[in-house]
Amino acid sequence: MTSRPALFASRLPGVSLYATDETPCDLDLSDNTNLWGMPPVAASLAAARAVAASRYPTPYGGDLKIALASYLGVDASMVVTGCGSDDVLDSAIRALAGPDDVIAFPTPTFSMIPVFATVSGLALAPILLNDDYTIDVDALLATRARITYLCSPNNPTSTAIAYADVERIVAESYGVVILDEAYAEFSGVSHTALLARSERLVITRTMSKAFGLAGLRVGYGAASPVLAMEIEKARGPYKVNAVAERAAVAVLGGRLEDGESQIASPRSRADPWVDETVREAVEHRERLSAELRAREFAVAPSAANFLFVPDAGAVAVAAALRARSIAVRAFDALPVFGPALRITVGPWPMMERLLAALDEIRP
Ligand code: PMP
Repeated sequence: MTSRPALFASRLPGVSLYATDETPCDLDLSDNTNLWGMPPVAASLAAARAVAASRYPTPYGGDLKIALASYLGVDASMVVTGCGSDDVLDSAIRALAGPDDVIAFPTPTFSMIPVFATVSGLALAPILLNDDYTIDVDALLATRARITYLCSPNNPTSTAIAYADVERIVAESYGVVILDEAYAEFSGVSHTALLARSERLVITRTMSKAFGLAGLRVGYGAASPVLAMEIEKARGPYKVNAVAERAAVAVLGGRLEDGESQIASPRSRADPWVDETVREAVEHRERLSAELRAREFAVAPSAANFLFVPDAGAVAVAAALRARSIAVRAFDALPVFGPALRITVGPWPMMERLLAALDEIRP
């Protein structure tokens, strides 16, 4: 018998699985989802409407793309959908760069980016954030990277990148820029206008945060039609399932019934529940920041639906909250900021419970 290579020699020894604490808790403030729940129109569809589960959904989400294009104010040929924006980011990295190409990104940032890039064989060029949360534009440009990834508002720091910095990177980057706007609705700032100025920009978004559909896994991106098609090629067909597609189109204000869809006057028709919960999240974000600052926590200026709090005792505080059945995300050693907490903003009674627990932990 000829000898064969060892079966389980991992190609990815430095990559670990995404780890979350699945222990049940009363109050989960750890994952930046919409704590007001899901839009009523999606709840009724998901519960009551049968879909033709024996049939495939549309291969590339045709009706969903039309609805999303209307929401963003771009042409449907510029939209690509995916199984969460994770899928769109992964597909974009795979489509637009190959082994040994460089991906540059400010760090700390969304933890899946180095993972997707490593799996695709890219070389990582992390550039430290400045300690005032601004990005080092010159250092990012100097990498001459094939892909530059920016996240605004950034996870985990909650902070937005200055518009002029994004503009300059889009204008001057050697390669392609992927701008992750997962939390854009909470920031009040959108960069979609830059798409008209650059054929090298990909903006990704999600329905997991403001739209309250994290469990349905719907993400999307917008780019020049040429790039959008390349990303779709890498993504492959049938990534958004039929239930998710139907619910997402309904929330965006279109109709997907018996193969028919109608998106009349776009932006105004998205479910008002989304705008209302975003407005409340922003209001509570400012109120919770003020409460935490009054308790001498060093809260970062958030443009998202969560707060970032560098704190030497972050891990111990998170453990003490967990003992009170409250989950927050703790980081033990982030670049630049060291140990820190990340706390999702929700309805005020939840925030009151958090504050009461913190007052017990740090009287
Ligand atoms: N980008 C950022 C910045 C995120 O924080 C997340 C989720 N935590 C994602 C993308 C992926 O979200 P989803 O796959 O649910 O769209």
